[in-house]
Amino acid sequence: VIEIQHLSKSFGTNEVLRDIDFSVRKGEVVCVIGSSGSGKSTLLRCINLLEKPSGGKIIYNGENILDDRHDIHAYRTKLGMVFQQFNLFNNHNVLNNCVVGQVKVMKRRKEEAEKVAIKYLKVVGMDQYINAKAEQLSGGQKQRVAIARALSMEPDVMLFDEPTSALDPEMVGEVLKVMKDLAKSGLTMLIVTHEMEFAKEVADRVVFMDKGVIVEEGPPEQLFNQPQKERTREFLKRTL
Ligand code: ATP
Ligand code: MG
Repeated sequence: VIEIQHLSKSFGTNEVLRDIDFSVRKGEVVCVIGSSGSGKSTLLRCINLLEKPSGGKIIYNGENILDDRHDIHAYRTKLGMVFQQFNLFNNHNVLNNCVVGQVKVMKRRKEEAEKVAIKYLKVVGMDQYINAKAEQLSGGQKQRVAIARALSMEPDVMLFDEPTSALDPEMVGEVLKVMKDLAKSGLTMLIVTHEMEFAKEVADRVVFMDKGVIVEEGPPEQLFNQPQKERTREFLKRTL
C-alpha cells in the first residue's frame, strides 16, 4: 500500500531519519520498535505528512505523494491515525466524536456518518456509550473510541503511535485486544509499540529502528529469537 524510499528528515542540523526504506503491504501488520528518540514517531508523522520529509519518496498507489502536484489531502484521508493521547473532543459525546470527521472531511450526510460510526463503535465494544461524553470515559475507553473514529473514515492503512503507553496498566489489555481483532480482520496496520509480546503475537513483520535508521526487519520469530545485528540483540536484552 505504502512504499517508502530513501526517506530522510532533519530538524535543523539534527538528522532524525536517515535513508529509510520500507513498505507496508495490503493486509499486513507491521510493528515498529526501538528505543526512545530513535525516530519512530517522526517516521509515522512523515508518512501522514504531519511533518514534511527532508528527502526521499513516499509511494502510494504508484505515485510519489511528495511530488508538488500531488493531492495531499486525498492521500491523508486514506490514513487513519491513533495517537498516544487520544485527542478526542472531550465535551462532545462518543458518537459525535466519530461523526465530525466523516461529515467535515468526507462530506458524508450526518445520518450516514452515524450509521458508519455505530458500526465501528460496535467493533471496539463502545456502542453502549454513544451518548456518553468523552471526558467521562476511562483511558482505555477513550482510546477505543479514538480507534473507532479513525476506522469510521474507512482508511486504507491504520497508523498507531504507542496507543497504549499513556494508559493505566489495567486498561492496556482491552485496547490491545481490539487491535488484535482488527489485525485478524485483515486491516493494514503500522504500529509503533513498546508491547513486545503484542508485536510477537500480532505482527507479520517487525522493524527495529535505532538512531534514525532501520537496523533490521523481519518476521517476529526471526527478529526476536534470532536477531542478526548486535544493536538489535542489545535492545532486546534491555527490554525483554
Ligand atoms: P519515543 O519512543 O520516546 O516516542 P521516538 O522513537 O518516537 O521516541 P521521535 O519522537 O521520532 O522518537 O524523535 C526522534 C528525534 O527527533 C529526537 O531526538 C527528538 O528530539 C527529535 N524531534 C522530534 N520531533 C521534533 C521537532 N518537532 N523538532 C525538533 N526535534 C524533534
Ligand atoms: Mg514516539
